[in-house]
Amino acid sequence: MQITEHGDRGRGGRASAARGRRSLRWTGRFSAAVVLVAAGVLGALAAEPRAQAFIRSRTRSCRPVFWPQGCLYVQPDSELLGSDLAPDRVENAIQNAITAWNDHLGVSSFLQLRYLAPRGPQEINPLDGLQLIKFRRNRFCRPPTATNSMEVCFDQSATAVTTVTFINRPSDPASDGLIIDADIDFNAVDFHFYDADNGPPPTGGRTPVDLWNTVTHELGHVMGLEHPCSLFPGAVAACAVDDQGSPAPDCSQVERERFRDPRLQTLYESTMYPTAAPGEVIKRQPHADDVAGIITAYPRVSDPRTCRLPTVVQNAGCAASAPASTGFAASLSLAGTLLGVIFLRLLGRRQRR
Ligand SMILES: [Zn+2]
Repeated sequence: MQITEHGDRGRGGRASAARGRRSLRWTGRFSAAVVLVAAGVLGALAAEPRAQAFIRSRTRSCRPVFWPQGCLYVQPDSELLGSDLAPDRVENAIQNAITAWNDHLGVSSFLQLRYLAPRGPQEINPLDGLQLIKFRRNRFCRPPTATNSMEVCFDQSATAVTTVTFINRPSDPASDGLIIDADIDFNAVDFHFYDADNGPPPTGGRTPVDLWNTVTHELGHVMGLEHPCSLFPGAVAACAVDDQGSPAPDCSQVERERFRDPRLQTLYESTMYPTAAPGEVIKRQPHADDVAGIITAYPRVSDPRTCRLPTVVQNAGCAASAPASTGFAASLSLAGTLLGVIFLRLLGRRQRR
């Protein structure tokens, strides 16, 4: 199957938006499947392989993006996966992914993920500060919204797409790179999300994907992590270097040389690796590189000691309320802030056929 990828997009004007998407891809051939069963890796970092490298998402000015608060609220839309996966299993998968990150970060990072149960039908608002999980079951597209008059359709080879919205203002180092929102669109049109613990993968025309495995990867993007290798030339910005200053290697090189280079093998097995085999569960638990990336970005000693429930959630009652993000966006605009919107991530995926 063909692999496609969308690069960053720019919008002119005072408030510019840059969108970069990565999609899961199919290599179109079976490449040595690595289907490792996550074996309850809830242990300490010391019990894991030594971290090799990680890459953080960056602004156009190459500054790593970052969250300014101590917690992020993740909430699925109430429209889940229908007959593909029971609602309680969908919620469990999301909660398991959140717990996986929190358990690994707990003692060393101030950033924590918090789960909010579905509260009704919602559409993604890239400015509301709520990390919404949205399952697309009819078309892998985001309809026009209050903040975007155009429908946005994603790469159909992508299992999911995470959109990270951050401030892009190189002239103001205090705010440049500050993340204000992140949301995830899941592609249930072309993929069948399921629970690998609950029997064999479903059969049919869609590719089976373990939901927990996918959510953990996407949450890494939500927190600001980038893929550790480049799937396509230019897919990772030139300044996207790892913590040791090395540029991201090509993923094809990783796949070719990992058997003789333990460092590449470790990278290949990381949760943020951009491809996944159908039914894979190795990404359910973040690995040493992934955890090191978050701890570096949000070390315990820098805890801002702020954790605010998004206003859009605070205002939610029986009647829908206007997204609080509107006011936030306005304040950003008044401050002359250059707003950057990045379509970051996605998963890549590896497929056998
Ligand atoms: Zn990804």
